[in-house]
Amino acid sequence: MVNFFSSNFKLGILGGGQLGKMMLYETRKYDIKTHVLDPNPEAPSKVACNHFEQGNLMDYETVYTFGKKVDLLTFEIETVNVKALAQLEKEGKKVYPSSKTLEIIQNKGKQKLFYKKHNIPTADFVRFSNKAHLTEGITSNKVKLPFVWKSTQGGYDGKGVSYVKSGADLAKLPDVECIAEEVVDFKNELAVIVVRTPGGEIKTYPVVEMEFHPDANQVEYVICPARIDPKVAQNAIDIAQSVSQVFEHVGILAVEMFQTQDDTILVNEVAPRPHNSGHYSIEASYTNQFEQHIRAILDLPLGATESKLAGIMVNLVGAKGYTGDVIYKNIESIMKMKGVTPHIYGKKQTRPFRKMGHVTIVNEDINEARKIAEKVKNTIQVISKN
Ligand code: ADP
Repeated sequence: MVNFFSSNFKLGILGGGQLGKMMLYETRKYDIKTHVLDPNPEAPSKVACNHFEQGNLMDYETVYTFGKKVDLLTFEIETVNVKALAQLEKEGKKVYPSSKTLEIIQNKGKQKLFYKKHNIPTADFVRFSNKAHLTEGITSNKVKLPFVWKSTQGGYDGKGVSYVKSGADLAKLPDVECIAEEVVDFKNELAVIVVRTPGGEIKTYPVVEMEFHPDANQVEYVICPARIDPKVAQNAIDIAQSVSQVFEHVGILAVEMFQTQDDTILVNEVAPRPHNSGHYSIEASYTNQFEQHIRAILDLPLGATESKLAGIMVNLVGAKGYTGDVIYKNIESIMKMKGVTPHIYGKKQTRPFRKMGHVTIVNEDINEARKIAEKVKNTIQVISKN
C-alpha cells in the first residue's frame, strides 16, 4: 500500500486551468504533493500546486519527461499528447484515466463509433474525412439536411458545432474531418457524473439538468437534482454507468445526454475528468467531484455521492463587449444572498464568454435556489476596467 498522505508521493496533473485548481484544493486537504504542467505561465493552478512547469501539453517529449518525474499521472484537459501517455503506461507508470480512453474521446467520430459498438444509445451519425466527402454524402443522400455538423477534433463549449440547414451553411464550414449527426428534438440536456476505481467500484451522482445560453451555446444553469421523472432519471443513471464500464474508466467521467420528447435518453458526449456540470458538488454534495476523482485514481474508498442540499451552478462568463483586466461587478451584492458561494478562477483577463468563474447556490428548496440563481445571474457581471 502506497502512502499518499504527508509523504513524498507525487501526483502529476496535465493542465493547469480552473479544474486543476479545484482538484488541488482537495490534494491540499489530504496533503498530497502535486506537479502541474501547463503552457500558460499564469495558469490558475499555479498558486495551488507544489511544483509548476510551463510546457506544451501536445508535445511528446514535454509530456513524457513530466510524466517520468511523478508517481501517478492524471489530466484536467483532453488536449494532451496521448502517445506520450501510452509510452508511460508501457513503462509501468499509472495513468488515470487511461491513454486508451482519452484517444477515443479526443475524436468525436471515434467516440460515436465506440457507443455504436457497445450499444450505448446515441444520435445517428455519419463520419466524413473532409468537406468534399461531406458534400458528396449530401449529394448522394447519405445525409439529409438539416443536420448537426461537428468537427471530430478540437471543439469545445459549442465551438466546432454547427446547425446546417442550407447550402449556404455548408459553404461556411471548414475543411476538416467531421460527423453529420441527426438533429435531436430534445426537451432537456442532462448530465450524470460517474466515478469508478481501478477495481471497478462505481458510483453515480444525481442527474443534473442544464440550461444553455441561447447565443453562446454555453451552460447557463446546472440544476441538481434535475426536475425530471424519477424513471427517466434512473434510466439516465443506468446508461451513464454502462458508459463508464465499457470504457473501464478510472476517475470521474461526465456523461452528457439528451432527453428526447418521448423520454429516450441519448448519450451526446463524455468528458473523462471533473466537469462543469459537477461544480455544484463542492457545496451541495457529501463528497465533491474533485475529491472523488482523487479518491478514485488513488484507489481509495469512494465517498458518498448524495446531495446534502439542492444545488444550482451559474457560470460566470465574460460579458459581451468587454476585453481586458477583469472586474466582478456587484460580487458583494450576491455574497449577501443566502447560500451563495462565488468561485473565482484567477484569470486576469476577461473576454466575451470566457469562463472566469462560477457561483453555487444551495438551498433546502430547489425552487427557492432557482429564484436566487436568477437573481445572481442578473446581478453579477464580469466586465473589464476599460
Ligand atoms: P461541445 O463539445 O462543443 O460541447 P456538443 O456536442 O456538446 O459540443 O454540442 C454543443 C451543443 O449543441 C449541445 O449542448 C446541444 O445544445 C447542441 N447539440 C449537439 N448535438 C446536437 C444534436 N444532435 N441535435 C441537437 N442539438 C445538438
